[in-house]
Amino acid sequence: MAKTDLEIAQECVMEPIGKVGAKAGIPEEALEPYGRYKAKLSFDFVKSLENEKEGKLILVTAINPTKAGEGKSTTTVGLGDGLNRLGKKTMMALREPSLGPVFGLKGGAAGGGYAQVVPMEDINLHFTGDMHAITTCNNLVSAIVDNHIYQGNALNIDPERITFKRCLDMNDRELRRVDIGRGAKVNGIKREDGFNITVASEIMAALCLAEDLMDLKERFASMLVAYTMDGKPVYVRDLGIEGAMAMVMKDAILPNLVQTLEHNPVLIHGGPFANIAHGCNSVIATKTALRLADYVVTEAGFGADLGAEKFLDIKCRLAGLHPDAVVIVATIRALKQHGGVAFEDLKEENVDAMRKGCENLAKHIDTIQQFGVPYIVAINEFATDTEAEVDALKAWCAENGHPLSLSQVWAKGGEGALDLGQKVVELCEQENHYAPLYDLDDSIEEKIEKIARKVYGAKGVEFTEEAQEQIRLFTAEGWDKLPICMAKTQMSLSDDGKVMGRPTDFTITVRELRPSLGAGFIVALTGNVLTMPGLPKHPSALDMDIDENGRIVGLF
Ligand code: ADP
Repeated sequence: MAKTDLEIAQECVMEPIGKVGAKAGIPEEALEPYGRYKAKLSFDFVKSLENEKEGKLILVTAINPTKAGEGKSTTTVGLGDGLNRLGKKTMMALREPSLGPVFGLKGGAAGGGYAQVVPMEDINLHFTGDMHAITTCNNLVSAIVDNHIYQGNALNIDPERITFKRCLDMNDRELRRVDIGRGAKVNGIKREDGFNITVASEIMAALCLAEDLMDLKERFASMLVAYTMDGKPVYVRDLGIEGAMAMVMKDAILPNLVQTLEHNPVLIHGGPFANIAHGCNSVIATKTALRLADYVVTEAGFGADLGAEKFLDIKCRLAGLHPDAVVIVATIRALKQHGGVAFEDLKEENVDAMRKGCENLAKHIDTIQQFGVPYIVAINEFATDTEAEVDALKAWCAENGHPLSLSQVWAKGGEGALDLGQKVVELCEQENHYAPLYDLDDSIEEKIEKIARKVYGAKGVEFTEEAQEQIRLFTAEGWDKLPICMAKTQMSLSDDGKVMGRPTDFTITVRELRPSLGAGFIVALTGNVLTMPGLPKHPSALDMDIDENGRIVGLF
């Protein structure tokens, strides 16, 4: 039987983190070690790189995935290892896994097979404590708001209009709506509240878009928390806690250095989900990597309709980044699902369904073409792929003029991405017309319509009455010049997770908008997407264990 991701990771003899840092040109004194194999980069070192020349930026994205994930992290790690094997000085910039999916459906999120980042267990569990810091920072705001009201409510906050929610890094549907302050008056003000998962919190988004600690503090100050009884916005700065919040985040803002199974340097920092948040690791980590390496491979979550759209429309625009190439990961199994095959039957050969499913890939290619960045399709090869299916996919790419590489990184590590790596290096030299798909000066409706039409292929957008009212309010407040962060199911191009392939003739329903003024975008919630997920019938946690020697099993 094939080894599990965890077994492969546990076999790796890791190099001391100082040696990994040295490979990236990071001096020993610039590392703040968390044990022997993880380190944060020091504040001074990150700052000292500010004027360094930046390397090439490669984004890894994908088609709409099956519920198992299609191997973007795996491809990102394998491609990075492959580029290093080709003699290119390469770093990777990845997101920190959330404990929600770890205990839920997906298991670990540090790559797979022979393309992984280690120490895998630590990265998937508490790592260097960033998630805890973010959760604490978020819940500090909630505690201060409720205490403010309890202590006399000098700001005249309307307890019914507190927009800032508590958070927890766990899939826990019971917490979506909660009654707080129950019982006697000493227990606080009775009101309804709710929890977001930490990776969907605005604190996480702000961390990932901040340039440095002072910028982060400023972002905290401008976060909306509530409205007053007479309808005026109340910001964190009115509560005076941006300083304490920034203090809580003093270490969490520093990128974490770890290594691949092939001992290449990786920065893992920040981890917003791509369906309900903007889906990219921190700007600080991406820029640091770009200043240290000639090539940086990074990923954005889920399909190109979510992560890549936000990477290219939000992150690159706001941070002044220029993407050089995009790798679109496709798997034969996901293509078959888009061609109508049920998840349980994806291991059976079905060339016709696979070819039909290519329409989903075609839409994502179209999206990247619209952004004007050179791209390549990477087939993430699975043991269950048949020769006939792979040949048919190669033929489809050739017929349609799409560059392609067969990636075997899961089975072979960096060696499985030598062809992909070579082609990506060539792409980085090609003409590049990167531009976001909407203007910040467009109205909120226009921006959402452009994303829905150009990226999802929708024929239009319907706004609920609540959403229309919010648009009026946000525009009156002058918040309408911000980019849009769409919250949408990752399973489909539409806002209905059951619709596979490349749907046409559909509309997107925007039911609610949330101003994330500190992050610097407006969140548009579509369909029935939720910012606090639930656990599946058989949570992955049921299969996990640790023995008397501290050896973990079942973490994928
Ligand atoms: P994504 O980043 O797209 O969500 P991951 O890279 O995290 O996907 O991979 C999801 C899971 O699928 C991991 O457990 C990984 O080991 C597994 N996986 C990825 N590629 C392959 C492959 N080619 N063969 C078998 N399993 C794979």
